[in-house]
Amino acid sequence: MPRYEFRCRQCDAQFEVSRPMAASGDPAVCPQGHQDTVKLLSTVAVARGGGGGAPAPAASSGGGGGGGGCCGGGCCAG
Ligand SMILES: [Zn+2]
Repeated sequence: MPRYEFRCRQCDAQFEVSRPMAASGDPAVCPQGHQDTVKLLSTVAVARGGGGGAPAPAASSGGGGGGGGCCGGGCCAG
C-alpha cells in the first residue's frame, strides 16, 4: 500500500499515511487532530536514489549510479 506524506498547516507536523491509491485524494487528519493538512509529494517507492522531483532518465544498462563525471559529461560515448 502506498504511503502518502502530509503536513499539517496548524502545527506544522509532518506525517505519513498508508492508504490505498483509490483514497489518495482524501484529506488526512493530523495526529494532533487538525484537519488543515496538505499533501506533499508522494513518496511511492519506485525510483531509488536521492531526492528530486523529476523522473530519472531511463538507464541503458544497470550501473552503479555514481555522482556524475562519466556518462553524461561526454567522456564515454555509448
Ligand atoms: Zn496538526
